[in-house]
Amino acid sequence: AQERYASIRDLPAETLCGRRISLTMNAGLMADLPSLPTSGAEGVGLFRTELQFLVRNKMPKRAELSALYGRVLDAADGQPVVFRTLDIGSDKVLPYMKPNDEPNPALGWRAIRVGLDKPGVLRMQLQALIRAANGRPLSVMFPFIAQMDEFTVARQEIDKAMAREERLGHVLPSELKIGTMLETPSLAFAPQAFFEQVDFVSIGGNDLKQFFFAADRENERVRRRYDTLNVSFLSFLEGIVNRCRTTGTPLSFCGEDAGRPIEALCLAAIGLQSLSMRPASIGPVKHLLRRTNLGELYSVISEARESGVQSVRPAVMEY
Ligand code: PEP
Ligand code: MG
Repeated sequence: AQERYASIRDLPAETLCGRRISLTMNAGLMADLPSLPTSGAEGVGLFRTELQFLVRNKMPKRAELSALYGRVLDAADGQPVVFRTLDIGSDKVLPYMKPNDEPNPALGWRAIRVGLDKPGVLRMQLQALIRAANGRPLSVMFPFIAQMDEFTVARQEIDKAMAREERLGHVLPSELKIGTMLETPSLAFAPQAFFEQVDFVSIGGNDLKQFFFAADRENERVRRRYDTLNVSFLSFLEGIVNRCRTTGTPLSFCGEDAGRPIEALCLAAIGLQSLSMRPASIGPVKHLLRRTNLGELYSVISEARESGVQSVRPAVMEY
């Protein structure tokens, strides 16, 4: 597939109406890195750090992680990389951690909740990231923030790690951006102060959709039951776009839907400027974006919504 789209690899994802959408890739393993130059990605929009923890049979050491993160930054060669701190629990269980016996793991002790309650691993990881940056820019993103204070406290951990590294004489990142995933509906309604204090927001559509429709993303019976282009969900997403626009907060979308061409077009039409996806999706999504007038598509979506349909998909497909 990448050969098929090779001719547009170095061209921007610029639409017929002149909007430029930034397309980045999702990654997590060293094996993903060669895709950076071949896919045409403009960086890594989501680096899932838990994958490095999941492929091992014991907790990785700080020096090991730091070397790995450094290699990721080397491979990116100056393009941005967004490192998401450890997102474990729920469907991602580390074999060397005591399993939690939870009735509803997806709603349980996971991701940043673990990082805030037992900060040891988070601190080690933040140190490794700062050292890996070694004078280069660093972007860190927290998973599964559900309310403002969780972000505030997690951010304090970075501030403390920076101070510690400075005391130890390490070179600090030349620039530090601290953002959050938006994966629970609650965060979409957080106070404006929240959107003002985060450096960027990335919608984790996989989890956000699961919680919006109360439909388990792991359950074959329900996982495809609700359409991402359902008018309720699309309006909800558009609300997030508008909130971020008000505060000038950079917003991206990094769930699997970003890599599905029709979904990607609709996300761009409602105002997303940045989409992060598996590398193989970048070509097809770019190809379609370059042939689309998003203003026209937005009118199609608006008309469909006003006509009382459940999903805008049929109208978008016809267009
Ligand atoms: C998401 O929830 O959409 C996301 C990008 O994170 P993950 O799929 O790793 O939960
Ligand atoms: Mg998620």
